[in-house]
Amino acid sequence: MALYGMVIDLNKCNHCESCITACKVENNLQIVSKESAEMGRVMQWMRLATASYEGNYPDVRPVTMPALCLQCDDPPCTKVCPVRATYRRDEDGIVAQIYPQCIGCRYCMGNCPYNVKVFNWYKEAQPIEYEKCYNIDVAVRVKGVVEKCTFCIHRLQKAKENAAAEHRKVTEEDYIPACAQVCPAHAISVGDLDDPNSNVSRLKSDYRKFTLQEELGTQPKVFYLSAKSK
Ligand code: SF4
Ligand code: SF4
Repeated sequence: MALYGMVIDLNKCNHCESCITACKVENNLQIVSKESAEMGRVMQWMRLATASYEGNYPDVRPVTMPALCLQCDDPPCTKVCPVRATYRRDEDGIVAQIYPQCIGCRYCMGNCPYNVKVFNWYKEAQPIEYEKCYNIDVAVRVKGVVEKCTFCIHRLQKAKENAAAEHRKVTEEDYIPACAQVCPAHAISVGDLDDPNSNVSRLKSDYRKFTLQEELGTQPKVFYLSAKSK
């Protein structure tokens, strides 16, 4: 048993969006056409959200932070799904999406306080070069389903299978989601929060740690380290 979580160090994040691009490619997200993008369509499981502003008027700049599914330990999204297409996995704490089961009612989106789910309501023609590069470990979703980040759950499954074949536990080197793998600043760490010796457990004890809307009781498993000293 493990409890996978993530720590994002906002002191290291340089807002380059490599994580967002890697997530899209790894998980076969649709490329949105220019025309659709101009109408406001977005297909991303990660985004840079505006966290605060810095500077004095008129030189005011937004401060952004990577936002994604927080893999809540008490996830409100799962409680309203009428067909159990989204659920929390007991074995690793990841909140999964079963795409063939989703009926697209979007109750889960309405009950997620963090606005991290996307509804794939329109199938756009994809560049043939992109389709040739689809990740065969990840399902290509049809339109009409809700999608979200699952910490690259297919990578975790593979790491579990490899570790089981060698009769050992999954290590932090075995399992690294795409966003963490490509981050040039090493701002994203993923690992077992239940293991007191894991990198994420160590980072989580940093005095700069905070979570989003803790007061809601959703118990997010994505933690941020504040960019500034308190
Ligand atoms: Fe569900 Fe939203 Fe929590 Fe992710 S962040 S587990 S989608 S409630
Ligand atoms: Fe469940 Fe899909 Fe409806 Fe969300 S949109 S509540 S995952 S059936």
